[in-house]
Amino acid sequence: MDFNDNREEAALRARVRAWIAENAAEYEGLPPAKTPEEYVARQRGWQKKKYGGGYAGITWPKKFGGQGRAPMEAIIFSQEESRSAAPTGLYDIGLGMCIPTVFTHGSPDVIQRFVRRALEGDEIWCQLFSEPSAGSDLAGIRAKAVRDGTDWIVNGQKVWTTNAHLCDYGIIITRTDAGAPKHKGLTMFIVDMHAEGVECRPLKQMSGASDFNEVFFDDVRIPDAWRLGAEGEGWQVALTTLMNERLAVGGKPRNSPDWSMLMRVAAITETARGPAVHQADVRERIAQAYINDRGVALTQQRALSALSQGKTPGPEQSIAKLVVARQMQEISRFALDLSESAGFLTGEDGSDLARLQDSYFWAAGLRIAGGTDEILRNIIAERVLGLPGDLRPPKDTPFNEVQPL
Ligand SMILES: Cc1cc2nc3c(=O)[nH]c(=O)nc-3n(C[C@H](O)[C@H](O)[C@H](O)COP(=O)(O)OP(=O)(O)OC[C@H]3O[C@@H](n4cnc5c(N)ncnc54)[C@H](O)[C@@H]3O)c2cc1C
Repeated sequence: MDFNDNREEAALRARVRAWIAENAAEYEGLPPAKTPEEYVARQRGWQKKKYGGGYAGITWPKKFGGQGRAPMEAIIFSQEESRSAAPTGLYDIGLGMCIPTVFTHGSPDVIQRFVRRALEGDEIWCQLFSEPSAGSDLAGIRAKAVRDGTDWIVNGQKVWTTNAHLCDYGIIITRTDAGAPKHKGLTMFIVDMHAEGVECRPLKQMSGASDFNEVFFDDVRIPDAWRLGAEGEGWQVALTTLMNERLAVGGKPRNSPDWSMLMRVAAITETARGPAVHQADVRERIAQAYINDRGVALTQQRALSALSQGKTPGPEQSIAKLVVARQMQEISRFALDLSESAGFLTGEDGSDLARLQDSYFWAAGLRIAGGTDEILRNIIAERVLGLPGDLRPPKDTPFNEVQPL
């Protein structure tokens, strides 16, 4: 296996690096945005630059405003982007998961209305799937949509909706036939997040930030023209979204600590037994972190290699996500413990301490988002190792016999 870029990939990387250096320079050294408006404005500004430079929707078909290029080109761009100060993140769910679902399952009018505006950064999207009693078991959702002439009326609650408070539109999965088996009575729609009856309530995280929301729907009207896929086919539509999510969450989050950061912290930490980096137990943890980092990098190379050959990465992507999230939590916890009372102080923006604290708070969520550790282990056991399947309830029982609504 060749881990280096081929000649065309190397040329593209050089072009992308130069473009990003020129265009992202204005974000270098900026302190974090102080208000939601400033945060949105920065992210929107960068999305518009990418659109103007021909780096938005790199793999999307040209007819939807994309560039029609190979997945490897998008990966090279995002690798280079993540090394820069460019403000990214707000558009990831919309452009990575929601809009590909819209252009795969929406009507031509819907595609015309929504896709290009999202790509240009004018409209921001969220994913309204999880509910208080349906996350891993997504097909167990209870938010209801009932037909009313040419509209549908939606009632229910979603939860953990990333950035819902900043979004203009979302894709929402609803139950439209409780008498059908659980995977068969679902329908997906586009919903206007500013519509009457939509209420976002922010959830406060342990980091102090509020990036997620509970979203309540009280008699919210959605035109039938905004349905994605056929009535009752929402599960198939959701699979398009989830497939894109799996591809997106396998990577290492930007700025996450690795073995080298642990090494740096150990090198400057004095303990009662001398410098931490000289202690056998500390060295063992650094070595373990190094082994995990290399394992993840090689697993990701396997996925990149598949993409480079025009193939789709397989379920082994789950291994990278499982290890990355645990590794992030373990490295940051160990390094903060090692720093003793200094670990409690608020680190200066951009410092190792601040990065460790951020990743310690963020890692717990990462172990849940996009598939919990246990669900990923099931996938690896069944689909990578070929072990016998988990016990699952029969799929044909009508939903309202399993869970009364
Ligand atoms: C940071 C973050 C961002 C998110 N963003 C969004 C978003 O934008 N939109 C959205 O719709 N959702 C979002 N979510 C929700 C996320 O998809 C769910 O939290 C996730 O699917 C888990 O569901 P749950 O929280 O209901 O936990 P549950 O599914 O109730 O799981 C509870 C526990 O039971 C375990 N468990 C469940 N089933 C099994 C099984 N079959 N075998 C073994 N163990 C099992 C789980 O591993 C877990 O430990 C986000 C979550 C997080 C943390």
